[in-house]
Amino acid sequence: MDFKRRPLIAGNWKMNGSLYTAGELTGFLTENLKRNNLSQIDMLICPPATLLYPVEKLVRGSGLLLGAQDCHLAQKGAHTGDISAGMLQDLGCSHVILGHSERRSNHKEVDDIVRSKVEAAFECSLVAIICVGETEEEYKKGITAKIIENQILNSVPEQASAENTIIAYEPVWAIGTGLTPSTEEIQNVHTLIRKVLEDKIGLNEAGKQRLLYGGSVNPSNAIDLLALADVDGALVGGASLSGKDFLAIAESCPK
Ligand code: PEP
Repeated sequence: MDFKRRPLIAGNWKMNGSLYTAGELTGFLTENLKRNNLSQIDMLICPPATLLYPVEKLVRGSGLLLGAQDCHLAQKGAHTGDISAGMLQDLGCSHVILGHSERRSNHKEVDDIVRSKVEAAFECSLVAIICVGETEEEYKKGITAKIIENQILNSVPEQASAENTIIAYEPVWAIGTGLTPSTEEIQNVHTLIRKVLEDKIGLNEAGKQRLLYGGSVNPSNAIDLLALADVDGALVGGASLSGKDFLAIAESCPK
């Protein structure tokens, strides 16, 4: 079966940005989205939580999608400093990144926690971008496939579908380092992810599922990465903080 998947270029701003810089960057993107022919792809920005409210006003009606970088697994209660999926929905978010390697390592988020957060996101009609990826040590040991398979099996809930879930393959050693796996390695991992999803959610849903690559994507390597058969877009960290670079990556999607 031949599945047509709409490319998605997502920007993870991480803990960067102020009211001023977020306004400038979002303004640049919405202006250029209008001007450039990018109607065949989805573009998403995920600012830090403090900037979601002002940025939502700037993206409204522009076609630029808004997402968050995390949510709590509970919908409300005694969780000082945390933010629920419902709060993100209330602010106008459509997506939330979950299980990013920085959350997994800095906040000890294991697969069970990631899965519960994804379920909380589904309850609030948010699309979950579930991140998976092996560490440098695991890559060097040659156990990438096993690690990714386990993360998919344990982080992706049964209710996942092509509509409510996006998987981002982000090798931990490639994030913010300027290093990337070879295109062959990336394609192989994406093929594996789709195969594991087939067994979990069925051939049809897995075929329609969007799989992103993330880890040091920039305007110079984007054309080669986005041309891979099972790469349906990119999750971009550092380069998403430059409007010019983020747009150049989006323009590298095969037409
Ligand atoms: C990320 O943090 O999701 C990421 C891919 O970062 P970078 O593009 O900077 O490697």
